[in-house]
Amino acid sequence: MEHETVIRLSVFLGLFTLFAVAEAIRPRRARVAPRSSRWVTNWGISILSTLTLRAFAFVVPALAVGAALDARAEGWGLFNTLDWPVWVEMVAAILILDFAIWAQHLITHKVPVLWRLHRVHHADRDMDVTTAIRFHPVEIGLSMGLKIGLVYLLGPSALAVILFEIILNGTAMFNHANLRLPLAIDRIVRLVLVTPDMHRVHHSVHRHEHDSNYGFSLSIWDRLFRTYIAQPAAGHSEMTVGLRWQDDRPARLGWSLRLPFTRV
Ligand SMILES: [Zn+2]
Ligand SMILES: [Zn+2]
Repeated sequence: MEHETVIRLSVFLGLFTLFAVAEAIRPRRARVAPRSSRWVTNWGISILSTLTLRAFAFVVPALAVGAALDARAEGWGLFNTLDWPVWVEMVAAILILDFAIWAQHLITHKVPVLWRLHRVHHADRDMDVTTAIRFHPVEIGLSMGLKIGLVYLLGPSALAVILFEIILNGTAMFNHANLRLPLAIDRIVRLVLVTPDMHRVHHSVHRHEHDSNYGFSLSIWDRLFRTYIAQPAAGHSEMTVGLRWQDDRPARLGWSLRLPFTRV
């Protein structure tokens, strides 16, 4: 289990650095807000969310991976009652978990109390690799609760859960990066994965645009459920990213943490 933390942290820091360098070399949009205050705030939110999960881990040891080990030991969950080849179970589990995260994301846009939490992510006025880690601690806690419940129902292997978390984390950093991909490459990649241009539509200030493209890893769910919008109407350079707070408030840590609980 300690191994798992070291592997995940190494992959996370490696990919974070890679995308941060890539977006500095080939930026897609000019920034509208200073990077320093946004980065301090986004990292601050992320560190608090990680600490929340650690506190949560006192109640549910080792979180989703621990739940997978526990379900296996107890014989709980669908895959622990089936005798499918390991790799089939692994692919099926990762697909189902990815769909669940897509559905959860859609629900956070539709249920007002959940949208209050999720809009902390959307309030960021620029989109870059740090936007991928800007999720309110309460939203991260709820999301982990859902994942743990699903893991007990599904009974995937611990390896499938670790792979899923690494893929989700890696693809989220990729598609939030302010990265200019050649359009031909973007067209090919987005047949399978959510690209930065595809996810940027989801960060549009316009509601009908931010209520689309809910995927974090695979692009198939939005195409399947007709929530896919290929490009922002105003174009990638001209579109406004964020919500109605087009000032320096979203770049402040205290304001961002209080946002779900304030009447605005
Ligand atoms: Zn969203
Ligand atoms: Zn996003």
